[in-house]
Amino acid sequence: MTDNLVVKNLAEVEKRIRGACERSGRKREEVTLIAVSKTKPVSMIEELLPGGTLDFGENKVQELCSKYEQLPKNIRWHLIGHLQRNKVRYVVDKACMIHSVDSLRLAQAISEEGVKRQLTVPVLIEVNVAGEESKFGVRPKETEELIRKIAELPAISVRGLMTIAPFVEDPEENRAHFANLKKLNVDIKRKSIDNVSMNVLSMGMTGDYEVAIEEGATMVRVGTGIFGERNYS
Ligand SMILES: *Cc1c(COP(=O)(O)O)cnc(C)c1O
Repeated sequence: MTDNLVVKNLAEVEKRIRGACERSGRKREEVTLIAVSKTKPVSMIEELLPGGTLDFGENKVQELCSKYEQLPKNIRWHLIGHLQRNKVRYVVDKACMIHSVDSLRLAQAISEEGVKRQLTVPVLIEVNVAGEESKFGVRPKETEELIRKIAELPAISVRGLMTIAPFVEDPEENRAHFANLKKLNVDIKRKSIDNVSMNVLSMGMTGDYEVAIEEGATMVRVGTGIFGERNYS
């Protein structure tokens, strides 16, 4: 047994992911665990690399870019935080996916940058499932219309939906939100919009990722459960 805390925590999260997959009749390979390393040092990320963890999440462009420079290039960096249009150019070639697109203007900026660099940028549409004032994201009702407009842009590709569910004591309180996002994803997928695949559902964090998996998450974003509490001081 290892005495490394981060590695131990990861093993526990992995066990719970397997449990949630079993309970819901899903295959483990259907779910990607994103280790959310924001505010945590590069040395902690390095502890996870030998075990094969390659998907990491960051919420700030500057921090993602700095870690990108310092770490092996086979790491898949997920930008999970709000993105400002003037920062798009720093991140389009470093993030494997941008999880937080919630406006046409941002999508246009991403596509313009993609055109310049001759790449297609994979993105998720962030949905505000509970209608919380404090959160970014489009309303469920406006999601399809936004996706139809983004689908017209040349160098961006919508792969699915993402949500940050409300902070709750009991994860069961978020089950209906996750189920609703899954349903929205399926509904939009059925429309077979050109250039839109809808195969990714990024939902579930430390407090509720097992419930999210039971409701269909294909990506879970776990920070505290792996790296411990964050210190913002
Ligand atoms: C910080 C963050 C997470 C991880 O949160 P934990 O509760 O620490 O697991 C997941 N998603 C987003 C968008 C985040 O900003």
